[in-house]
Amino acid sequence: MPVIAIDGPAASGKGTLARKLAKHLGFAYLDTGALYRAVGLQVSRAGGNANNEQAALKAARKLGTLDLNDPEIKSESTGGLASKVAAIPAVRALLLDFQHQFAEKPPEGKAGAVLDGRDIGTVVCPDADIKLFITAHVKTRAKRRFLEQYGPTGSDEEYQAILSDLSQRDERDTNRTASPLKAAENAYLLDTTNSDIEAVFVTVLKLISDRMTIT
Ligand code: C5P
Repeated sequence: MPVIAIDGPAASGKGTLARKLAKHLGFAYLDTGALYRAVGLQVSRAGGNANNEQAALKAARKLGTLDLNDPEIKSESTGGLASKVAAIPAVRALLLDFQHQFAEKPPEGKAGAVLDGRDIGTVVCPDADIKLFITAHVKTRAKRRFLEQYGPTGSDEEYQAILSDLSQRDERDTNRTASPLKAAENAYLLDTTNSDIEAVFVTVLKLISDRMTIT
């Protein structure tokens, strides 16, 4: 099955790009961050601590029953919980199987899969046909998240809080021992600081048509 692996930090534009690519190519899309978010949220709702291995594992074992579309899943505080449970190797191991199955046998008989996350090109799908690493300056990413969450009327304090949360999450994701955020050696690096997602999409489609045969 053809697989496109997309990695990068929070709010880099990787999710929007992944969704657009999947739609365009008729592939299935998996937002792997939502898996870690669902587990983090479950730990918190059960009254546990997201840094606690036993609590996180208990939640991860429930993955099949968790609602990946819960409205709370997208919040930055859930992102913080996700990055805590994501630093626990045993939690990552539990979620790996779900991701492998998705890539090997995409749902609804789709012809391929697009997965986005932090370790797709390095750990989950090291043999992916195309690997992309999407990044952008942290202030640009914080601005995007801020506008998404608060719209044009948000305050500077709200922006600063998002900037601080994102920076902490980058730090935790990059410096953890288990599957840290990093570009695979053979990934294409794309910086979206000064380009809109449409331009990046066009560049990536060109890469794909040069490198992959889609049937
Ligand atoms: O991509 P998103 O911001 O939704 O991811 C939430 C958190 O889940 C990340 O900050 C990261 O800690 C974790 N994650 C991960 N590996 C992935 C996807 C997400 O560690 N493949």
